[in-house]
Amino acid sequence: MSTIFSKIIAREIPAEIVYQDDRVTAFKDIHPLAPVHILIVPNKEIATVDDVTPDDEQTLGHMFTVAKEVARQMGVADSGYRLLINCKGDAGQEVFHLHMHLLGGRRLGPMLARQE
Ligand code: 5GP
Repeated sequence: MSTIFSKIIAREIPAEIVYQDDRVTAFKDIHPLAPVHILIVPNKEIATVDDVTPDDEQTLGHMFTVAKEVARQMGVADSGYRLLINCKGDAGQEVFHLHMHLLGGRRLGPMLARQE
């Protein structure tokens, strides 16, 4: 079963791709939560952070280099941005193809709302 993100990576379904190389693809989130909301995705299907293996370390490290480049491309490198990865249910992961959110372009506020 190919994930929706694999279909985007293969350009079988449309997305606004802002960066792509042989390991990683970055594209605009379809429901942006900030003026800049990019998803940085390994081309290899890794379901969650819990499925990462040592073989993935180069690709996962590369995601940070790509994040830095994309942040500059999107104009938020100097103002700042947040990188975020959800893993499984309590984090609210919806797409089971590991991805890093890059969010910026406004003050993002605290990382988590306190539980009352
Ligand atoms: P998660 O909750 O799994 O960390 O985040 C999944 C993200 O993928 C959500 O922010 C959602 O808006 C985005 N998303 C889901 N389906 C699509 C799609 O088909 N295209 C794009 N560009 N983003 C998607």
